[in-house]
Amino acid sequence: MDYRVSAQDRAAFKRCRRQWDFGAPTRQNLQAVDPLPPDLNRAVRDALAVYYYPGMWDWQSHIVLPLVRKAFMRTMAAAPPSDQRTADVDLGTELLEHYIAWAPSLDDFCPLMIETDVESLVPDIRETDRALSASDARRVLYTDRVELLAIDADEELWIVTHLVVPEWHDIETLLLDEAAVAACWTWEHEYLGTSIAGTIHNEILLPPPESLGPVPTDTRTGRPGRGGYSQNEPSGGGRLIAHLPRPEPEEPEPASENRVTQETAGVIRRTRIRRSRAEIETSRRHVGVEVLEMLDPELTFFPAPSPNHCPQCSFVAPCLTMTEGGDPALDLASRFRPGPTTPTYEPRLGASGGGGRYVPIPPPTPPT
Ligand code: SF4
Repeated sequence: MDYRVSAQDRAAFKRCRRQWDFGAPTRQNLQAVDPLPPDLNRAVRDALAVYYYPGMWDWQSHIVLPLVRKAFMRTMAAAPPSDQRTADVDLGTELLEHYIAWAPSLDDFCPLMIETDVESLVPDIRETDRALSASDARRVLYTDRVELLAIDADEELWIVTHLVVPEWHDIETLLLDEAAVAACWTWEHEYLGTSIAGTIHNEILLPPPESLGPVPTDTRTGRPGRGGYSQNEPSGGGRLIAHLPRPEPEEPEPASENRVTQETAGVIRRTRIRRSRAEIETSRRHVGVEVLEMLDPELTFFPAPSPNHCPQCSFVAPCLTMTEGGDPALDLASRFRPGPTTPTYEPRLGASGGGGRYVPIPPPTPPT
């Protein structure tokens, strides 16, 4: 069995090593016995996975949109009943309706694949062209689940991430989104021969602004219904793309003035960031450095308290016990159980090879 480090594990490691040590499948792998509170971000993401499901992209809205709303409600219903859940259902329902109203005025792509699992060998940064191995010689893999792969009118591929946010992220935060860039590298490794042009950060504002203005009546592409490009169109459509040639390494980097474009409509802000080859390669090396550190037997698991993440942490009680110099064993035994050995995601319609349009691989270049 390979040694797998998921994007979630990496985020936890960078956030707080103590939290990572408690929860990562390769560490103590503990999961709270108590059911998790409602996750509005997760529910909206699940709804958008149906909204952008490639196999239904050309279907009429009156058939698809009820399924989108149902996906949202299904995820919210999985959380235990509480006042918080009731409030989040109301808030999320409003948010989703705003999204459905405004997204067609922004969507200028065609969805190709949703919720796709990708993985890549982690490089050993101590040696060129070698992959990292664990101390027991197992392969070390970085894994991620990509929310949406889209193609634009120029037949470029983009990795799209959805984010429900209390306020818009500043542009620097999005430029420095290491997880999104790592997803570009991992995708290209999983689907050899494809080239990712960059990332699209699809922010959805919660709560909605007081004044949203009139709902646009036209779609960005002129296509009726949900807009975007049809699966059947030669440009921006998924079915008729013959090949997706990967740029040669010596190809010049994209012009910097085209690197970032940003648009806002209603509750949505779209930031499209072109990622350079150097940026994707740097991300690959960063993952290599961090995973090498995770594998260090001398690693210390110091806490990194912060009001940004401690309130959502499942391990507050044992963490406080340890901070006071106590032994958290009793608390851990009574309130936690072993978690799954791999990251858990609800299987989705069309996820992980079960759907979505095939991303074609270019044929090998004949020898000259
Ligand atoms: S409560 Fe905060 S400091 Fe403690 S483990 Fe969780 S995230 Fe880390």
